[in-house]
Amino acid sequence: ALPKIYAITPTYSRPSQKAELTRLSHIFMLMPNLHWILIEDSNTTTKVVRNLLTRAGLTERSTQLNIKTPLNYKLKNKDPNWLKPRGVEQRNLALSWIRTNVDPAEHSVIFFMDDDNSYSVELFVEMTKIEPGRVGIWPVGLVGGLMVEKPILNAENTQVIGFNAAWRPERPFPIDMAAFAISTDLLFKYPQAQFAYEVERGYQESEILRHITTREQLQPLANNCRDVLVWHTRTEKTNLVSEIKLNKDGKHSDV
Ligand code: UDP
Ligand code: MN
Repeated sequence: ALPKIYAITPTYSRPSQKAELTRLSHIFMLMPNLHWILIEDSNTTTKVVRNLLTRAGLTERSTQLNIKTPLNYKLKNKDPNWLKPRGVEQRNLALSWIRTNVDPAEHSVIFFMDDDNSYSVELFVEMTKIEPGRVGIWPVGLVGGLMVEKPILNAENTQVIGFNAAWRPERPFPIDMAAFAISTDLLFKYPQAQFAYEVERGYQESEILRHITTREQLQPLANNCRDVLVWHTRTEKTNLVSEIKLNKDGKHSDV
């Protein structure tokens, strides 16, 4: 049987949320070995997310959690997005859920799947090749000021010897959150591995990976890191100016 892949998605309420999650849900409908852990950045789980999971037929293959980002760490409306890390609380809650609910004897994989990126189903096929005790790695498109950010491999294509990153290349792992997935046994072996607020901008990936792997131990995937199967797309802030004109009370219609 294929190893189970636990996809960890922090998500928060905004006008485009349902569109983003609908797009992602179709990957789960195509890939039966995926389990979706959705962690809402709110005080309760919501109907929007629950209904979406039901309509996609994913109630059995999903876990709906919630934890609110503390106010002092939450981005304000006018803040640039890089000012504070996003998804820290939510990803850590998912990691602790995995540590309590997943069978350590069964080989599985965990992946951090932000809700606004674009994913090829082929990426999830690649993840099933991750060996126990290893972290799989691949290129990510449209990130870090580059068309493609990717690992550089040795002549035999067996080991990562560097990265082409242009932005903060001095980071221990100068890669995006979407560039890797982890064999779950590493989470049990290194219980201290998680994310933190008190790290410099761009260091979240290095923060978790430094506990569980070295560059040399990374497992190159996606056709020796030549294929791009995930893109760091971002959705522009929705303009609802006419909604406000139509509804003087400031409430806009749900979609
Ligand atoms: N996110 C969240 N709460 C927030 C902002 C973001 O849970 O207040 C989630 C978001 O839905 C996404 C992840 O955290 O799944 C990363 O956020 P975003 O895509 O905005 O980050 P960027 O792509 O700009 O690095
Ligand atoms: Mn994003």
